[in-house]
Amino acid sequence: MFKPSNPRSIKQLPTQKETKGTVGSQRRTGGRAKKAEAPSEKRLKIRWTRRSEPQRMAKEAPSEPASGAPPEIAEEFLSQNHRLLGIEEEPAELRIKESVESKGINHIRFQQTYEGLPVHGGEISVHVDNANRVQMVNGVYYSDVGLPGRTRGRGPIPKAEAIEAALRDLGPETVLRGNASAEMIIYPAQDQYLKAYKVTFSASDPLGDWVYFINAENGEVIDSYNAMRFGTPRGSIYNSNPKQDPDVQIVELHRLDDSGKLQGAFVQIDNAMGEEAYAADGEFVYEPDDPHFDEVMAYFHVDKVHIYFSNLGFRGLDSPLLVHVHVPDPESKDPDYDNAFYSPEDHQLYFGHGKALNDLAKESAVIYHEYTHGVIEQIRPEIEGSEGAALHEGYADYFGCSITDDPLIGEYAVQKIKEKDLRDLTSNKKYPKDLQGEEHEDGEIWGATCWDLRELLGARVADLIIYQSLYYLPKSPEFADAYEGIRQADLGLFNGAHIPEIEKVFVSRGIAAPKEPSPQPPPSPKPREQKVTVRGNQAWTSTGIPLKKGQEISVSASGTITYDDKGNSCGPDGASWSDTKDKEDPIYTKPHGGLIGRIDVTGTPFFVGSKSKFKVDADGTLYLGINDRWYKGNTGQFTAVIKY
Ligand SMILES: [Zn+2]
Repeated sequence: MFKPSNPRSIKQLPTQKETKGTVGSQRRTGGRAKKAEAPSEKRLKIRWTRRSEPQRMAKEAPSEPASGAPPEIAEEFLSQNHRLLGIEEEPAELRIKESVESKGINHIRFQQTYEGLPVHGGEISVHVDNANRVQMVNGVYYSDVGLPGRTRGRGPIPKAEAIEAALRDLGPETVLRGNASAEMIIYPAQDQYLKAYKVTFSASDPLGDWVYFINAENGEVIDSYNAMRFGTPRGSIYNSNPKQDPDVQIVELHRLDDSGKLQGAFVQIDNAMGEEAYAADGEFVYEPDDPHFDEVMAYFHVDKVHIYFSNLGFRGLDSPLLVHVHVPDPESKDPDYDNAFYSPEDHQLYFGHGKALNDLAKESAVIYHEYTHGVIEQIRPEIEGSEGAALHEGYADYFGCSITDDPLIGEYAVQKIKEKDLRDLTSNKKYPKDLQGEEHEDGEIWGATCWDLRELLGARVADLIIYQSLYYLPKSPEFADAYEGIRQADLGLFNGAHIPEIEKVFVSRGIAAPKEPSPQPPPSPKPREQKVTVRGNQAWTSTGIPLKKGQEISVSASGTITYDDKGNSCGPDGASWSDTKDKEDPIYTKPHGGLIGRIDVTGTPFFVGSKSKFKVDADGTLYLGINDRWYKGNTGQFTAVIKY
């Protein structure tokens, strides 16, 4: 398929002398074209080049002023000048198609015809100025139109057959909008002129205004294209809400697919009340009381908030999120529902159009609030606990307000019940004294704290830190955990550049403890522990534990080894005797077969036994062994647990 683009050149008509010369050269071009087969060369372009300076042109009128109506003047001009223009015959086969006047200039378009049929693409425009002078002529004219001799006994196929051929070609799934029509024309094909039907119809699937050229002799498809102009779709919305800004805005709708519906890369709209908006031409412009208005509102603002979070680094919710508007109350089934929510079960957004309250889908901050719940659910799923629920709401309010740059949430929703707002992030509530045990109320403390931070650091920096802090939330977070997340986020993103402001804000809201005047010493690190098997038939076993001089360690050991072929055995404390007679054991003054240790392979052995605690006297690795010179025939093992 292709999109037609007629060769056109628009130039000013020069003096007659120049016209002659130029047309002559065009004729030579035309002569060459007759031998060539490519259609573009077969076309004869009527074109003049401007050879004189504009000043000179201004003095000389393009043509003599003529009398009569502009279409007659144009017709007369073509009749008089047809040979100059490269039109071989009398222009009897040019038919006025359209005559338009704009700013005093008349533009008369002629359709080229042959045997009464329009020649596709053959069109000449004559432009007549307000002094009745022909100002310019341009267009495309086929100078060699002719039809091959008809096959005897065979006429053209019926119109209906041509339409059928076009629909068959577009596919069995084609869904028409209105009726198809067909008109017989002359089609300039590759190497000949064909009698053809131009079939036109609109379809919703595949979306388009389709144009087909069907060979009138045999019903074959010659060519086809989609004439629909896919401009940027537009829709009507409120920027924030009707209370804040009552003017309906016409905005571009981005990332829509070509279905003609409000479905795009990140959002798909469902209207729970009835049919969804459909606009093949991309014009989703409705009055606010039209049920489709909420669909556009939801599409635009969910797409917007998605991009907003993408710019903060969020990579979730990247496939179309199903958003329902005009949803009934999920429990009572009342069609007028006073709430909106994000469902973590199906990952979809739901907006009621209100009963006591105003329409929730007409307030962008509410849309952003619900979407933020979805973002949190992606980053930290299934948050639990009462403070966790409050944080969920607080974050959702914060982003709802930050994106609208307005600290009020629900100002339009509750206008109907004469309230100022649902939540106000300039509230001076404090933690924990203002906790009420209701998540939205308590969330206001968190939202307001984040808003304080935004006031100090600016929207961009605050948004980044607050967004990033979501990744640090534990499953059942308290405000203190979320505060720690904010600190960590700043450390990660900005090397802690905003820690002083963060501490100031969170201390003043009661979430962080005031800084101690003298900092406490850092808590000693938790002792580590390692279990090592010490085999009886191995002199020394490396524990792999690196120790520092002066470090305190403790070892507790259990198990039994058999140290001779009579079956005598002992535990880590060794036998009841020492090798004081032969003095061959590593520590012959200590019980035979007991657990011993040393630092590195060169260290002096020391007795460990079943339980001991000692200070290391040199840097190095701890080895454990058996106090037995003749260890090779031993069996069994000790298990030592080293705390260090
Ligand atoms: Zn919420």
